[in-house]
Amino acid sequence: MAYKLWINGAWQDSDGGKIVDLENPATEATIAQVTEATRADVDRAVQAAHAAFYDGRWSRLTPGERSKALWKLADLMEARIEEFSRAETDSTGKPYKFISLGGDLPFAIDNLRFFAAAARDTHGSHAGEFLGGYTSMYRREPVGVVGQIAPWNYPILMAIWKIGPALASGCTVVLKPAPTTPLTTLMLAELSAEAGIPPGVLNIITGGNDAGQAIVEHPLVRMVSLTGSVNTGKKVMRTAADTLKRVHLELGGKAPFIVFDDADPAAVAEIAAFAATVNTGQDCTAATRVYVSQDKVKNVQDALVEAMRATPVGAPYDDAVKMGPLISRVQRDRVMGFVERAKSAGAKILTGGNIPPAWQQGYYFEPTVIAEANQAAEIIQSEVFGPVVTVNSFRDEAEALHYANDVAYGLAASVWTNDLGRAMRVSSALEFGTVWINDHLPLTSETPHGGFKQSGFGKDLSAEAMGDYQITKHVMIKQ
Ligand code: NAD
Repeated sequence: MAYKLWINGAWQDSDGGKIVDLENPATEATIAQVTEATRADVDRAVQAAHAAFYDGRWSRLTPGERSKALWKLADLMEARIEEFSRAETDSTGKPYKFISLGGDLPFAIDNLRFFAAAARDTHGSHAGEFLGGYTSMYRREPVGVVGQIAPWNYPILMAIWKIGPALASGCTVVLKPAPTTPLTTLMLAELSAEAGIPPGVLNIITGGNDAGQAIVEHPLVRMVSLTGSVNTGKKVMRTAADTLKRVHLELGGKAPFIVFDDADPAAVAEIAAFAATVNTGQDCTAATRVYVSQDKVKNVQDALVEAMRATPVGAPYDDAVKMGPLISRVQRDRVMGFVERAKSAGAKILTGGNIPPAWQQGYYFEPTVIAEANQAAEIIQSEVFGPVVTVNSFRDEAEALHYANDVAYGLAASVWTNDLGRAMRVSSALEFGTVWINDHLPLTSETPHGGFKQSGFGKDLSAEAMGDYQITKHVMIKQ
């Protein structure tokens, strides 16, 4: 089946776009076909979003009415959770159990319900007299038409993290999922009509980087929100400068996992292995750089190698499996390239580094542990986006902090210690948007997720994400 484009509340044919196949990365089979939107399609979607914003069919609804539609959308997703989970599993190759009950889908539904509630809390912060004879008030208003561009690693979650706060704030949206994983976002589009979201408020354009570029260039788009790589973030920001759009960038990560000498090596290694292989390492907060106090490094390294070797790799519908394939052949070649170059630069592969012998079909890759990499080496400094983790030692707290902060990224980090003072000192000195103490990975709808440094700016999730899609207007009344 070939999906069309979702524009103005209906499936619409493309104006000249190609039809392309979507592949299941676990089986290499074609699972569906989608349309590559052209510039003319993008323009049609933006015009629909523009008309919907300015006639007030969404922005002038009461917050309660917007909230009700978003809540209904969450209910409709929940009623079809199995259908969504299967489509997401077949598009990404992730273990079904990590997507269905207790995984990505329930979290996405919870995120949407959070934003449905947040829609009712869009008040301005002031009303008062700051100049004799005048009353000032602040209104929080939606930014306008928002262009949103998503990656492939968590397709439905990324779609919800984008449309949730934008729609709750009263913006209208043109969203482009990643070229390889648009299925669940297209399913969501159709449900949006059933939920009572008016035509033109949510438009879904499928396609590649050119379609994304056309969204960013469009003069009627007031803000662009991208989740993607640092390089794409830089391009988007440059392009957005021409029309002076707001930009909201959730980019890559290279999370340090800092283990002090009072942590239990076996317990820590088990969580490090999970945090390095979750989503096959294609997670912007994945544990990628394990730094261990020098007197414990051997114990943690050995336990980590054992835990990585024990990670069950395999087919997504096998309940015992914890790690599926990488997203594509291109991504596997990329990951393999990083490991080969690390080896050539003198690092030691303690386990993994290859295609698993039992999984030649599909884009599988072994959980991989690398030691003795230099802090300046590519394998430490660049995002691999695969199940690959490095281990290094540090002498003291200052050196641990230096190594952890010494990368261009700043998305997430974790610290492992029972010393409260040290946990406080280190978490305050780490330049990362999220710092976990004695855990790695948990997120909630209420807490902000976003980067420092080249991991970008702007927040997903939480009331802070709502704020990013609103603009303050000062209204001054002469008495
Ligand atoms: P990518 O940067 O290649 O693509 C992301 C999206 O941008 C895709 O939809 C793509 O078509 C589009 N795009 C590419 N070039 C464009 C351009 N010039 N103009 C407009 N749109 C363009 O990233 P990816 O490979 O799909 O995803 C992996 C990356 O996403 C990793 O770097 C990962 O860390 C990051 N990521 C970050 C977060 C976060 O919350 N910070 C979450 C998930 C993924």
